[in-house]
Amino acid sequence: MKPIQLVDLKNQYLAIKEEVDQAVISVLESSAFINGPEVKAFQSELESYLDVKHVIPCANGTDALQIALMALDVQPGDEVITPSFTYVATCEVVALLNAKPVFVDVYPDTFNLDVQDLERKITSKTKAIIPVHLYGQCANMEAILEVAKKHNLPIVEDTAQAIGSTYTFSNGDQKKAGTIGDIGCTSFFPSKNLGAFGDGGAIFTQSDELAAKLRMIANHGQSRRYYHDMIGVNSRLDSIQAAILRVKLRKLDEYNDARFNAAMFYSETLGKSENITPPFIADFSTHVFHQYTIKLHNVDREGLIEHLAGKGIPSNIYYPLPNHKQGAFAHVDDGSSLPITEQLGTEVLSLPIHTELSDEQLVYITNSILEFVEQ
Ligand SMILES: *Cc1c(COP(=O)(O)O)cnc(C)c1O
Repeated sequence: MKPIQLVDLKNQYLAIKEEVDQAVISVLESSAFINGPEVKAFQSELESYLDVKHVIPCANGTDALQIALMALDVQPGDEVITPSFTYVATCEVVALLNAKPVFVDVYPDTFNLDVQDLERKITSKTKAIIPVHLYGQCANMEAILEVAKKHNLPIVEDTAQAIGSTYTFSNGDQKKAGTIGDIGCTSFFPSKNLGAFGDGGAIFTQSDELAAKLRMIANHGQSRRYYHDMIGVNSRLDSIQAAILRVKLRKLDEYNDARFNAAMFYSETLGKSENITPPFIADFSTHVFHQYTIKLHNVDREGLIEHLAGKGIPSNIYYPLPNHKQGAFAHVDDGSSLPITEQLGTEVLSLPIHTELSDEQLVYITNSILEFVEQ
């Protein structure tokens, strides 16, 4: 059996080596390293895949979020609502703009933004809402859109973990994650479902006006060369990454299916234990399993992590300390608690999930977990 990894980038690369190597070599030969034809081609291929009018490539997912908030004119003192149960980047960009992240709780089953808590925390200072499609499943966007519309607030979707996931509205309409709100942001960090071989990110929007502004901000606030209408940043996707991402975009659905199949095996097997709650899949969204995250009940989580590590099985806690409890956000902490978020922080455990897991590995992992949990 091959060694088990949380994410197996090496074997995924080996399976597409010829295509990727060829793509990289052709960029080297063209020397069009910045804003070359590969970037334009990737942009338009991703627009078709997502069925979205504009994709603006940028340097990473964190930049994507920051540029999105800048395009919405988030100012110092404004409030931006985000879940606390997310990767730090979602909340960090708010604080970077000297705005205030206002943390909301999540649902205990989907781990995604609690719509009632969201509505409760809207004030006259609220400038935007950032739902996160955590672990690969869309937040309840229809309900979030309704609240946003009622309060006239824009939505920035953090879809760094859910690219390729599909949301279904109650009338049957379907949209890809990241194309439902006003702006969508994603990351091409290597371990993401659509991962580059380095950093990368992108911003999505259906609005021509926002697209022009987002593009301008990502490029030094420049409207034409050396004329700067606003303060911007320097955030580019480089051509080598774009060329690799073009190859991998063609495989994205296949990759997401492989993750889903591994997840279904886990859920069927582990779901038999009373001490484990497998991930819940809401009927409004497909799940692309960026993470496969279980909840443990009456199980010594540290003991299980150690037991698995001893058998060559890595596992991880995403995320052990919620953002509202992090030192970085002490300046906005008003002492209020987010009970579900805090509870989840003690219960969740993420298992190896990627496109290259073999049946043999899956059986070995689930047996090893049950052996400890059921003892
Ligand atoms: C990975 C991630 C980001 C940041 O992406 P980078 O490309 O690493 O900057 C933002 N939000 C979420 C939820 C993520 O998982």
